[in-house]
Amino acid sequence: MARTALISGAGVSGPTLAYWLAKGGWHVTVVERAESLRLGGQNIDLTDAARDVVERMGLTGEIAARHTGERGLQFVDTRNEATAEFPVEAEGSLTREIEILRGELVDILVGATPDTVTYRFGTTITGLDDDGEAVDVTFDDGSTGRFDVVIAADGMNSDTRARIIGEGGHEDYLGCWSSYFTVPRLERDNGWWRWYTSPNGIVAFLRPDNQGMMRASVNFLSDESDPPHMTLADKKERLRTRLDGAGWEADRLREALADVDDIFLGPLHQIKADRWSNGRCGLAGDAAHCPTPYTGMGTTLAVIGAYVLAGELTRHDDPRAAFAAYEERFKPFATEAQKLPPGVPALAYAQSRFKVRLINLGAGVAASAPVQAFAALFDGGSGDDENRFDLPEYDWSASAHRAA
Ligand SMILES: Cc1cc2nc3c(=O)[nH]c(=O)nc-3n(C[C@H](O)[C@H](O)[C@H](O)COP(=O)(O)OP(=O)(O)OC[C@H]3O[C@@H](n4cnc5c(N)ncnc54)[C@H](O)[C@@H]3O)c2cc1C
Repeated sequence: MARTALISGAGVSGPTLAYWLAKGGWHVTVVERAESLRLGGQNIDLTDAARDVVERMGLTGEIAARHTGERGLQFVDTRNEATAEFPVEAEGSLTREIEILRGELVDILVGATPDTVTYRFGTTITGLDDDGEAVDVTFDDGSTGRFDVVIAADGMNSDTRARIIGEGGHEDYLGCWSSYFTVPRLERDNGWWRWYTSPNGIVAFLRPDNQGMMRASVNFLSDESDPPHMTLADKKERLRTRLDGAGWEADRLREALADVDDIFLGPLHQIKADRWSNGRCGLAGDAAHCPTPYTGMGTTLAVIGAYVLAGELTRHDDPRAAFAAYEERFKPFATEAQKLPPGVPALAYAQSRFKVRLINLGAGVAASAPVQAFAALFDGGSGDDENRFDLPEYDWSASAHRAA
């Protein structure tokens, strides 16, 4: 009998894990809370050994073909005039070689999972009962199931995490919120990632995509670390309030929100779970080790971690031994990737016109310290082509044979 796995979350880590577990002979079910795949988000980078994982999945060509074509980064002032420019071919450019919209990557990963993987949308876990032999699961639609392992791959704000390792103590709030949403492209939009710093404390981006739209991001400092659940309407209201009087394209973004149907918005927490499993249940991706977009490493970690977890679960008969091996192999790398440069993120925000001038001036001087720090914001900050994580080899076919 094939072993069975339940994965919560169909973002980046969930489908990657499903792909590799299926390759190892597992029967996999993925539950996703949203009614369909959440294809929002901006450009994300795949770096380090994540490039090798997607190569082993045969996806490098497809990912390269969906490159956004962004020309580079421009810092702009309130009149939309560039104060500094970092073209893609320039040293230290933030636009990377393997750069793809998050939603496109999710779509490719889900498409790569075989038909044996079952996706259930609009479904969440409401109860887990691990009796040592397997895990009994209840879902919010009243249905139940029994699985050999359960993995929470449901993001930074995972509520499955608390069901597995308990509440609290796992999060470092960074003092700021981020948002991502998609807006129509206008004639005045160009092929550049435009970065605007407002004196009222917000940083806003507009980035071109390869679908004829613009990917917007609005970021701001806030003391509120644990907001109540926000509906789409709540998110729009919060963003409209923040954008009020912010200058540049703020009014356009406020108006465009009326037609937006998916928004990622919330406080940014680095997740530093003290353990990544409990019995037959474990954590993967942001649910275990979210580094936040300030490191540019979230997707890279999600892809590598999913590969290692699937490999260890396939290699070991006892999931507890597999979870321990996964944590031992991968946690040091994930922890290192969470390190932020001094002053990040507060450094990027301005509460006065004077600081805006300083930021824009600093951005204009390529070698200046602010630019070095900017390079680390929302990106890994390392153009290094060397892998720092040594990807293990696993014998998928032998395992599949054993599990059959
Ligand atoms: C809509 C969206 C846009 C994003 N945009 C960016 C971006 O522009 N830049 C960036 O650096 N990072 C972005 N991120 C975060 C980025 O995807 C992750 O940091 C990284 O890829 C790790 O992926 P993950 O699979 O662990 O988590 P995620 O990609 O966050 O995926 C988690 C999935 O789990 C689902 N989920 C949540 N709770 C439950 C539940 N209780 N039951 C079932 N399913 C659940 C979510 O709907 C989501 O599909 C975005 C995430 C989302 C969801």
